[in-house]
Amino acid sequence: MTDNVLYVQKGPATLTEMSGTEVAEALKHTDVLLLPVGATENHGAHLPLGTDTMEAREICRRVALRMQVDGHPVVIGPVIPFGTSSFHMGFPGTVTLTSSTLITLLKEVGLSLYKTGFRKFAFIHGHDGSLPSMMVAAQDIVDMTPDAQVMVLNWLTPLSKVYHTIQVSKKGEGHGGEGETSRILVTHPEIVHPERGIPHHLDPTVMAKIQGPEHIKTGGAIFYATRSYKDHTPYGHIGDPSLAKPETGERGYAVIVDWVVSVLKRDYFS
Ligand SMILES: [Zn+2]
Repeated sequence: MTDNVLYVQKGPATLTEMSGTEVAEALKHTDVLLLPVGATENHGAHLPLGTDTMEAREICRRVALRMQVDGHPVVIGPVIPFGTSSFHMGFPGTVTLTSSTLITLLKEVGLSLYKTGFRKFAFIHGHDGSLPSMMVAAQDIVDMTPDAQVMVLNWLTPLSKVYHTIQVSKKGEGHGGEGETSRILVTHPEIVHPERGIPHHLDPTVMAKIQGPEHIKTGGAIFYATRSYKDHTPYGHIGDPSLAKPETGERGYAVIVDWVVSVLKRDYFS
């Protein structure tokens, strides 16, 4: 155990790191708030438990920078570090909220910030398992206010369409695999250990049910509820983390950020 710096977090600051005065100043220029919704869950021996929280924050960070350059400032809300991760509970360190708790949490965070003056919200996940609760919370906030707008952005769908062009692997890379490991290598290289991740791929028909084109989270029309990741992988990850490269992570973020920026501009700034 040491007191070394673990990693460096680049700005812009989230609401957690801003003063109330700074938020009041920001509200003179925008009423748009991005809410990163992460998770604390196993991603294999090579990635930290906060991987999804780090990804959600990084997406919002990059989006906020792009929007600022384009003259459309946004504020990044407090980073939510927990999600509904029940199917990862077979692995040590995972923390899960029940869906009703996550719905209440997101609703109360959103309503608090609504009272502060924000009117347009974009919930951005780091963990797709939380999407159903995020959608319920979004609808609740709209139902409970006269003029809030809330959208939930699932970047997995646009990203999954181009996975084959940005990843090296020709096998199914999923949770904690080449793509996700590459994205954490971009931001937190000090705490990623790709060499510790043993390659583990699923039968294509099983993989299709987890994140194939038929699954609703990756652009299809069927929702398959997940029982336990232990049924699929003894390590908790799916794919080959040793293939991960920062450049691959950058290409992934570019796709995600381009899409989120285009949606925000179209729906909140036109
Ligand atoms: Zn993840």
